[in-house]
Amino acid sequence: MTPIYLDNQATTPLAPEVLDAMLPWLKDNFGNPHSPHVLGRRAAAAVEVARDQVAALLPDNGQVIFTGSATEAINLAMGAARNRQGRDQIAVIDTEHAAVRDTALWYGTQGFETSLLPVDRQGLVVLEELEACLGEKTALVGAMLVNNEIGTIQPVTRIAEMVHRAGALLLCDAVQGFGRLDIPQHADLIALSGHKIYGPKGIGALWVRDGIRLPPLIHGGGQEQGIRSGTLSPALCVGLGTAAKICAERREQDMVHIAALADKARGLFCDWTVNGSLDQRYAGNLNIRRDGIDVARLMSDTRGVAFSAGSACASGSGRPSHVLAALGLEPAQIKSSIRLGFGRYNSIEEVERAGHLINQAAETQLS
Ligand code: PLP
Repeated sequence: MTPIYLDNQATTPLAPEVLDAMLPWLKDNFGNPHSPHVLGRRAAAAVEVARDQVAALLPDNGQVIFTGSATEAINLAMGAARNRQGRDQIAVIDTEHAAVRDTALWYGTQGFETSLLPVDRQGLVVLEELEACLGEKTALVGAMLVNNEIGTIQPVTRIAEMVHRAGALLLCDAVQGFGRLDIPQHADLIALSGHKIYGPKGIGALWVRDGIRLPPLIHGGGQEQGIRSGTLSPALCVGLGTAAKICAERREQDMVHIAALADKARGLFCDWTVNGSLDQRYAGNLNIRRDGIDVARLMSDTRGVAFSAGSACASGSGRPSHVLAALGLEPAQIKSSIRLGFGRYNSIEEVERAGHLINQAAETQLS
């Protein structure tokens, strides 16, 4: 039996329209987009249409580079710190995804100073701490748009102003917000991922503001303007482009639907406490806790619902959640937290059924 899927922050199902758009590029249109003959040129044209579809959701004054994942896009983006002469500090919000946080910590072993910026109980970066941390040594700051574990929306525009005043660059991990929320116009580098927007896995993109130089991570044939070598997959590019286009077209509809699912869930889980901000939050994320619940047992008793343990770092590494810890939650509270993620293809009935199953299992434990 297929479980009710409430883990849309981990990944989203492929939109049917995306699959249809991809299939021809996996069948007859097999040309290498970097070949000069007709099959190659046809594939290259499809890649450029896809690039434009992604770029349509991003600021005007930059370019989109396709990558294999958002993690790769973030690693590529952070290389910009190397080109900031005399600046050797990287600061990232403590609740960033491992793709940003761990890469920043790795830079800390490579001659950079890494600073982790604290958040308040809501998960919002403490702006006074950011201000105090910024200086003439700051090369790059990482601030995510929507947190993948608790859904908190960071004030990225405000952060960008502060970062630019200090002469540093702002990298925005927009993976969980792209296609859903307005993209901050003043970030310098923006990372996104195909599989979080009902597109395929194995593709991401980095938007780079004009004038920013990036040292390549992958060397070779010089594709993607020499910044990211390797033959592009037209199918994956078309998938990402189509997914972005559909997100833009359905944005209102998706938001209304997801808000309705979230409202329903908030009612069903009224005995639980919400982790993170109630108002500065992407509605499709509900991270909640209930004292005394053993989440491992809850999950095994609720196999009909696919959801996440809030205590497990959502990067899938099995590490405890650094995000819930950064909010100041006690270990027992972290261990009794779950994350429900609603998406375009969930129905109200599914949320009702999932709420019933999870609450029933919780009550059994507590009785
Ligand atoms: N950043 C955030 C906020 C994410 O949620 C994820 C995926 O979970 C990533 C980065 C990494 O994305 P990808 O799976 O494309 O590497």
